[in-house]
Amino acid sequence: MAVVAGNWKMHMGPAETEAFFREFGVPGAGGGHEYVVFPPALSLARAVASLPAGSPVRLGVQNVHWEESGAFTGEISVSMAREAGATFVLVGHSERRHVFGETDDEVARKVRAVQDHGLTPVVCVGETLDERRAGRVDEVILRQLDAALAGLGDDPGRFMVAYEPVWAIGTGETATPDDAQAAHGTLRERLAAQLGPERARGVPILYGGSVKPSNAGELTARDDVDGVLVGGASLDPVSFAAIAAACR
Ligand code: PEP
Repeated sequence: MAVVAGNWKMHMGPAETEAFFREFGVPGAGGGHEYVVFPPALSLARAVASLPAGSPVRLGVQNVHWEESGAFTGEISVSMAREAGATFVLVGHSERRHVFGETDDEVARKVRAVQDHGLTPVVCVGETLDERRAGRVDEVILRQLDAALAGLGDDPGRFMVAYEPVWAIGTGETATPDDAQAAHGTLRERLAAQLGPERARGVPILYGGSVKPSNAGELTARDDVDGVLVGGASLDPVSFAAIAAACR
């Protein structure tokens, strides 16, 4: 069993969202995966209305502001997302960090706000190609994880971590299963040091970065790869279902 998550980024308006869920249907019982889809916030209500009865798919938003309300043009709050049907929130996706300049401190505030409202944050971490070449993978992902954990406080509720090397997102390049396992192992160790080994084992760590039906199986076969966060290949219900079928 794995977590199979889809990040639709700025794709899929309401009509396409409805068509996706009509075709995706109710995934078969085989695998017993946990499914989470992150449509654009404007398509969330349509996603809620389009999920077939009995669907195990949960919904989330791709970003939130940490404040409850106010003069923050263009932003949405966690309570708005929750009211519209979100139970998960992506926090610190690499596009938020690298395109929109989101900082570790902002990630911490968002993670705290998400948990305060009872939603599940999926905290994204990952190194750039330059950082990998400079041998700084562990340093970068642990710094990002530590900042998020600081936001979660002493008694974090449920959360997930997504290891998404920046150089693998939307590029067709995928981390090897060994590289993914090495990074996930590093993250698990840090979680164990902070939360204790038992709780650390219960935190799903997802891999993201050009996941497709042909590589999802070998990635999720590794001990510390508990699921996948899929961008491009989650836009097509057939390939998203094929990825789920391949996940272990
Ligand atoms: C993502 O958006 O989180 C992602 C991993 O994208 P892709 O699968 O397209 O690389």
